[in-house]
Amino acid sequence: MFTIENRLAQIHARIATACGTYGRNPSEITLLAVSKTVSSNCISQAFAAGQVAFGENYIQEALQKMQALSNEIEKKSLIWHCIGAIQSNKSKWVAQYFDWAHTIDSLKIAQRLSAQRDAVLAPLQVCLQVNIDKGANKSGIAPEQALDLALAVAKLPQLRLRGLMAIPEPSASFEAQKAVHLQTQQLHATIRAQLPCEVAAQFDTLSIGMSDDLEAAVAAGSTMLRIGTALFGQRDSTARTL
Ligand SMILES: *Cc1c(COP(=O)(O)O)cnc(C)c1O
Repeated sequence: MFTIENRLAQIHARIATACGTYGRNPSEITLLAVSKTVSSNCISQAFAAGQVAFGENYIQEALQKMQALSNEIEKKSLIWHCIGAIQSNKSKWVAQYFDWAHTIDSLKIAQRLSAQRDAVLAPLQVCLQVNIDKGANKSGIAPEQALDLALAVAKLPQLRLRGLMAIPEPSASFEAQKAVHLQTQQLHATIRAQLPCEVAAQFDTLSIGMSDDLEAAVAAGSTMLRIGTALFGQRDSTARTL
């Protein structure tokens, strides 16, 4: 039977199997539930089943859902990740209401987020989005420019640089999926080796892997899987239901 609880258990089983196959430890991997277009009620169901980290793409939609959650324990426990493009005019909402942002691809947006992050809050945890397979119309910084951006972002007071994020072109082949994920993993390692020690120590996040390439991402070293469809079912692309 389809319940969010069952689906969540299935995803944890997939992660455990992949970890067994590729010599990974499941404790190194965070599952991010991608809840774009999904109701706040479904978020509550996932929370009741043990899920705490949620990824949202559309800022307005995310804020509405955050407000719709009424349970105080839930409100305090949930960790919100912004995984969609951050337009300048929306950055203040990301700075105020999210815990993480995965889509930093320019110093300008990073500086805005740092300036807009209230100093009483924990620093915003950020990943640089890398256009790893160089899709022409894709967001993300070019791999060659990622080190310079990382060095600059690491100096911003209200941000904490945590790692890299990538969204490769979909492919049905496991080997192709793994090859491109390995490129992100290698770029992460190269950058980490060149960061100051105290920054490198926290540069521990590789945000790669979605419903269709979870296993390949685990094989390539993912530490954060962003899973939507496998948890909440197929999205209706026309509706953004709350
Ligand atoms: C929608 C989305 C996901 C989840 O994709 P699924 O294939 O539904 O698991 C992951 N990451 C980003 C950036 C997304 O926009």
